[in-house]
Amino acid sequence: MKPQVEIYDTTLRDGSQGEGINFSVADKLRIAEKLDAFGVHYIEGGWPGSNPKDIEFFAQAKKKKFKNARLTAFGSTRRKGVAVEQDDQVRLLIEAGTPVVTIYGKTSMLHVKEVLRCTPEENLGMIGDTVKHLKDNGKYVIYDAEHAFDGYKLDPEYAISTWQAAEKAGADYVVLCDTNGGCLPEEVAAITRVAAGKLNCKLGIHTHDDIGMGVANALAALGMGADHVQGTINGYGERTGNCNLTSAIPCISLKLKKTSVPAKSLSKLKELSQFVDEIANLRHNPRQPWVGSAAFSHKGGTHVNAVQKLASSYEHIDPAVVGNARTVLVSDLAGRSNIVMKAHELGFKLANDTPELKTILTRIKELENEGYEYEAAEGSLALLISKTLKHREAPFQVDTYHVSMRGDAKESICEATVRVRVGTKTHHEVAEGDGPVNALDGALRAALTKSFPHLKKISLTDYKVRILDSGTGTAAQTRVLIQSTDGKREWGTVGVSENIIEASLQALTDSMEFALLKK
Ligand SMILES: [Zn+2]
Repeated sequence: MKPQVEIYDTTLRDGSQGEGINFSVADKLRIAEKLDAFGVHYIEGGWPGSNPKDIEFFAQAKKKKFKNARLTAFGSTRRKGVAVEQDDQVRLLIEAGTPVVTIYGKTSMLHVKEVLRCTPEENLGMIGDTVKHLKDNGKYVIYDAEHAFDGYKLDPEYAISTWQAAEKAGADYVVLCDTNGGCLPEEVAAITRVAAGKLNCKLGIHTHDDIGMGVANALAALGMGADHVQGTINGYGERTGNCNLTSAIPCISLKLKKTSVPAKSLSKLKELSQFVDEIANLRHNPRQPWVGSAAFSHKGGTHVNAVQKLASSYEHIDPAVVGNARTVLVSDLAGRSNIVMKAHELGFKLANDTPELKTILTRIKELENEGYEYEAAEGSLALLISKTLKHREAPFQVDTYHVSMRGDAKESICEATVRVRVGTKTHHEVAEGDGPVNALDGALRAALTKSFPHLKKISLTDYKVRILDSGTGTAAQTRVLIQSTDGKREWGTVGVSENIIEASLQALTDSMEFALLKK
């Protein structure tokens, strides 16, 4: 059934324009898969005309099957004075091979005159030509009307004519954008209502959070004829960010009571939010509405007391509905069912209320306290579950390792030796590398492939390091997150130590062990 509100995720494009955010192609693919599984309706993968990384992303994404989301490529209308067929940026959009293409064009007379420096008519031509050309190439076309609200305030008649130009050329959606993020909800509501009266095609909303109204403005437009919301996970984006989907989605489902993402996905919202932060290598914001770790934590004495008597006394909603948890009560209902679900996902049998589950939960709590993080390290989590359920012995043991580095003015060389034990055999290998971790990876791999030749297929796709604050007053811990692939599937593993090499070795060892676990 068609949802009442469509969710359009632009974390990979608008979100990646946020300060401090830089996704690799592998990161983008992982996030796209997660978003698809969560159930957003569109995933905007990038702007193929703006950088080679996005072209590469679309080439890889073509090979994936998305079951819920439609992939979209983003770009702009043709350049002025260039026939649309001759415009390289438009050609790349078509070549991205996505079913949906989103283009933005100018609404505001100010931008037409001062930024584009063309006539108002030529701008209308640029919009119409580009939409029509994309439709002629079989694309579903979403037209993002940049500065829709500011443009309307400046010259309503012209603004409407730009939207109508897109509609007339066949656009499936016209999306009104508060590009500068400075509008108030009343303005957004009123102008969206006008647009709905002037257009027959469907309407969407794209907002930014410059005055803290990103989500409010999106919701305001929904009441006035829009049924499509664009935003990013955790609100990443230019300046102060975009409409935060981790707030907009539960507001739409639980407050406005409109259907959007599948109902069962809501309980995975916090997980999705943390996953994307992990991949972006950003600290999770504890005060983030709905999904932050503090969103349902109660500290004040009277609050705690009341919440223990009646949870709803100081909570607007049951935190488990969005996969979050109350932090004063020690009952771990959410934690338990998460682990049970994860165990099933990974192919282990684990029932609620068993001693094994309690052991796993206690162990995870201890480890999380030390700085481990399992949201994006499903490989390490699988090993932890598997070990507790005693389904298997560790397939190998790292007995000793050594890493050294020597350098002169010209170059520096790292060398690592690793000795592993597999059953009764011992393998001792040396490798050089670009850095200590690279050398260690080489030596570990060389040693293990002696007994497990198929591990040759495994390669590292990503390596992330985070220095954790020390909540306990001891020395700062380093968390290493590694992403590996065997060409078919990908998994993450984690290591934590005061020593970065030690943390890296843990994550590397887990990665190899996980590969063997699934064999
Ligand atoms: Zn934007």
